[in-house]
Amino acid sequence: MAKIDSLDTLLVEQLRDIYDAERRLTKAIPKMVKAATSEDLCSALNNHLAETEEQVTRLERAFEMLGEVPSAKACAGMKGIIEEGDEHAGEDYEEDSLRDAVIIGSAQRVEHYEIAAYGTAIAHARMLGRDDVADLLDQSLTEEKAADETLSEIAETCVNVDAMSESESDDEEQAQSSQRTSSRGRAAGNGARARSSRSRK
Ligand code: FE
Ligand code: ZN
Ligand code: FE
Repeated sequence: MAKIDSLDTLLVEQLRDIYDAERRLTKAIPKMVKAATSEDLCSALNNHLAETEEQVTRLERAFEMLGEVPSAKACAGMKGIIEEGDEHAGEDYEEDSLRDAVIIGSAQRVEHYEIAAYGTAIAHARMLGRDDVADLLDQSLTEEKAADETLSEIAETCVNVDAMSESESDDEEQAQSSQRTSSRGRAAGNGARARSSRSRK
């Protein structure tokens, strides 16, 4: 393996890492769709699967633009995020919408990791005067950010807090449960609401 002796080599190494991450996702996203229940969530994940396949192709183009043969190097970060997502989705949930909520959380971890990875690679490409490569990667970065926003929106609608409180029909638990539900509702809504109020600015 080549020694990383310059920013050019480093950029190629990072692309190899992202290439592996994106290829892993083309296999992981269909599994998330299978585990998900909400139609909105499934269609958002399927849309992003199509984008992810295009992102793989874009990375192959970026390698070629840099005079390199496309090759992947195991991305331990994405491997771990996908494993953790599988673990969370495999837990026992009282409501399908609770599983959907955790799948959204896992998918957003994926997007944020990708946003960080592309951000760094794009910055390095620009430092190297390779705006052509940076612009190409920026198309993928834009898609990752949009996917993250869409997931935030779905998080606000797909977890039905009312339905969950109705399922706890035990009379003696009623008072306790409505207390729990309201604190849960606040916890679930917080991140998404903070984000959407930011995007309105
Ligand atoms: Fe991606
Ligand atoms: Zn990685
Ligand atoms: Fe993505």
